[in-house]
Amino acid sequence: MMISPSVVIIGAAESGIGAVLLAKRLGHQVFVSDGGKIKTDYRELLQSQGIDFEESGHSLHRLGEASLCIKSPGVANEAEVITALKQKGIPVISEIEFAATQFQGKSIGITGSNGKTTTTLLTHHLLSEAGISAGLAGNVGKSFAAAIAEGGSEPIYVLEVSSFQLDDCYTFHPHIAMILNITPDHLDRYGYVFERYADAKFRIVQNSNEEDYFIYHKENPGIKEGLKRHQVKARHLPLSLFPLEGEGAWCDHSHLHFQLDSLPGGLISIPYEGLPLEGQHNQLNMMAAGLAALLSGLNPDQLKFGLKNFKNAPHRMEPVGELNGVSYVNDSKATNVDSVFYALGSMKKPVVWIAGGVDKGNDYSQIEALVKDKVKALVCMGTKNEPLISYFSGKVPTIKSTASLAEALTNAHALAAPGDIVLLSPACASFDLFKNYEDRGDQFRAAVQSMIQSAP
Ligand code: ADP
Repeated sequence: MMISPSVVIIGAAESGIGAVLLAKRLGHQVFVSDGGKIKTDYRELLQSQGIDFEESGHSLHRLGEASLCIKSPGVANEAEVITALKQKGIPVISEIEFAATQFQGKSIGITGSNGKTTTTLLTHHLLSEAGISAGLAGNVGKSFAAAIAEGGSEPIYVLEVSSFQLDDCYTFHPHIAMILNITPDHLDRYGYVFERYADAKFRIVQNSNEEDYFIYHKENPGIKEGLKRHQVKARHLPLSLFPLEGEGAWCDHSHLHFQLDSLPGGLISIPYEGLPLEGQHNQLNMMAAGLAALLSGLNPDQLKFGLKNFKNAPHRMEPVGELNGVSYVNDSKATNVDSVFYALGSMKKPVVWIAGGVDKGNDYSQIEALVKDKVKALVCMGTKNEPLISYFSGKVPTIKSTASLAEALTNAHALAAPGDIVLLSPACASFDLFKNYEDRGDQFRAAVQSMIQSAP
C-alpha cells in the first residue's frame, strides 16, 4: 500500500539527502523524487534507511499529497514539478530553511558570488582554533540538515549558503550575515536578470534585526545597488579597500585593520607578512572572517594566530609544484570571470594562463586590462575555444588552442620561462573535459607532479 507522504524532497543529492535524514528523524513520512538518476551511494543510503523514492521522473499525483516540499538547490524555481506543487498550495522551502527551523543556536551565514568556501572555512577555523565549539555546514562539507539530523549540538554554526538555497528561505535568520560580493553568475537561473540574482543574496538578511550584524564589501557595485533596494536592520560592518570611519574592516598595502567599539582602543591591525592567504580577494575574505570571529569572542592574539595557521581548501590558488624556476598554480575553482580577475590581480610575475571549458556567456572585458598587463601566453583548454580565442586575439602575444589537459600542460610548460607562473584559472565550468572542477584541479596537480618527477 502506498502511504501518503507528509514531506516530499525534490532532488536526491547532498542537500536532499540531508533533508531526508532530518525529516525522518522528525518522524515525517518522507518521499523523495528526483527527475534524473540518483547517484549509487545516495540510492543505497535511501534503501538502507527504508525511504520511499522515485527517480528519472516525478509522479505529481503522489507528490501533490504532501504538506511540505523541500527543494534541492540544483532544482530550478521554474521546474515544472515545483510550479505544480506551488499551484496546489504546498509550501516549498530549501534544505537550509528546513534545518534552521530545528536549530536553537546562532548561525553565521556566508554568501557571495565568490569566496564563500574560503571565508566559511576560515571563519570556522578561527573559531575552532580559539576553542569555540562551532559546526561547519552548508555548501561546504555536510549539509546543514544532515548536521542537525546527526545531533548538531554546537551552539554556533558557520554556514556557506548559495543563492539557490536562499531562494527558498523565509525564516532563516543568521546572527552574523555576510555578502562578500555580488557579480554576474548563475544568471540562467534568474531569467538573466542580475537584480533577481542579487535579491536572492539579500535574502540572507531579510529577517535580521538591530542585534544582528551584516558584513559586506562596501565598494562592490552589486551590493551597493542591492542596498538601495533592501533595508537591512542589522548593524552594518562594511569591508573596504580604503580607510574606513566607524566600525568595520579595511586594508592598505601592508595591514588588515579591524575596527570594532568592543576592541581595546577600538582597533587592531594585523600585518600581511606571514599570512598564507594572498591577493586582494583574500584580504576581503580575511576581513570578513576576522570580524565574525572577533564578534564571536576571539581576542586579537587568537585572531592573529588563526589567520597565520590557516590552510585553504585545494583548487583555490593552490601552489602545486615548481620546475625549472616556473611555479604551477591550481585555481580550478575559478569558474567565472570575477574570480580570474582576482587570481590575475594577485600575480606578481609573468603568467602563462590556462583557461577555458564551458563558457556560461562570459564577458571578458572585466579582465582585459589585467590580461594585457600580466599574461604572456594564453593556453585554451576546452572543446570550444573560440570565445576565448576571438576575444584575446591581438591582445595576448601567444595563444594556443588545446583540447586536453596533457596538451595544455605541454604547451604551457614550453611557453613558460624561469620566473614565470603557469596558472590554471579557467573562468569556465569544467564539464566538457572533466567530471567537475575538483577533477580538473586534481588532474592538473597530478600531471604537474608527474612532470616534475620525470624531469631530468
Ligand atoms: P565560492 O565558494 O564562492 O565558489 P571559493 O572560496 O571556493 O568561493 O573561491 C572560488 C574562486 O573565487 C577561487 O578561484 C578563488 O580564488 C576566488 N575568490 C575567492 N575569494 C574571492 C573574493 N572575495 N572575490 C572574488 N574572487 C574570490
